[in-house]
Amino acid sequence: MKDINFDTYFSRHYPLSSIGKEGQLKLKYRTVLIAGVGGLGTVAAELLCSLGVGNLVLVDYDVIEESNLPRQKLYFPEDIGKAKVEVAEDRLGQRYPFVNITSHAAIIDGLSAPELIKGVDLVIDALDLFSTRKSLFRACHIASIPVIFAGAIADSANLMTFDHSPDNPCYNCVLGNINDDDGQSCAIRGVNPLILHMVVGFQISEALKILLDQAPLLTQTMKIIELNSLEIYDVKFNKLETCSVCNPMDSSPGKPGDIKKGNYEIEGFGSINITSMCGRNTWIIDPSWEINWEIESVVELLKKSPDLYQITVTGDKYVTVFIENSHISLLNTGVTTVKKSDSLETAIRLYTDLMNYIKKNTTNQ
Ligand SMILES: [Zn+2]
Repeated sequence: MKDINFDTYFSRHYPLSSIGKEGQLKLKYRTVLIAGVGGLGTVAAELLCSLGVGNLVLVDYDVIEESNLPRQKLYFPEDIGKAKVEVAEDRLGQRYPFVNITSHAAIIDGLSAPELIKGVDLVIDALDLFSTRKSLFRACHIASIPVIFAGAIADSANLMTFDHSPDNPCYNCVLGNINDDDGQSCAIRGVNPLILHMVVGFQISEALKILLDQAPLLTQTMKIIELNSLEIYDVKFNKLETCSVCNPMDSSPGKPGDIKKGNYEIEGFGSINITSMCGRNTWIIDPSWEINWEIESVVELLKKSPDLYQITVTGDKYVTVFIENSHISLLNTGVTTVKKSDSLETAIRLYTDLMNYIKKNTTNQ
């Protein structure tokens, strides 16, 4: 590439109060992960490069399709069938002289997310599935890495910043009830390329603030953009008192009939979300790490220690064991129900012992 002078290249940013010369140097040492390099992510990548962010990590498992080409402008017709991240890395590298790019053709899930986000300062959520978002958000929440969410469909878009501050709502408070629904996909409802540029413009403006240690504006407010009416409005969100992600689990027994939610960190594993059915001595535990057990193998492992674990019921996708007066049902996804334990502490201890037992005996095989 032709010799380009850093100061000359970015000279138009120096008079800006939002960046300035000092800010420009800071950006050079920042690392941003872009989750998804499709309609939103390709625009985000170009804007972050234009601003002079020094390090980008691109993650997407998808390949380029014909219908991507009108709005995903990093990709050309000859790229159809190639991995998006590889082409994006290549094009951005040719176009922008001051950026280092790392790319992962990977699926983001509970297992990969904590690894992918290691060492990054900020995550740009440019995904199109809420199930994937959930894994990414949860990993970012645990690692305290801010995430800026953006979504677009048809002629509308929305965005919000999640900085994990204890006063601000987390993604689960705001988006926890949304599930992927085929009726809401871009393939069915379409997507206007113009809305992508508008929402990502706002998204990267929030990114710039976070990267330059300024306060982001959308940590309690979702911004909604309607292209057809050119209306932009704000919806205020509060932290949910019952959120199982951002409230530490409170161990008091609670009133019979109440449902309490919270999270707890298990050493060596990660965080678990706990739902407590007050008055029923029942706790439902949902681990944040990815589990996909073959129940038959788990049953075999548990049978090796009949003194410790007494198997009472088994099914294709679950097994129930009796330990210390408690009944523990494990689903193949790792979601576990502990019944009849005397306290939350006992339920967590039994669960942790069981996880350690399975882990130890699986590693030893
Ligand atoms: Zn929350």
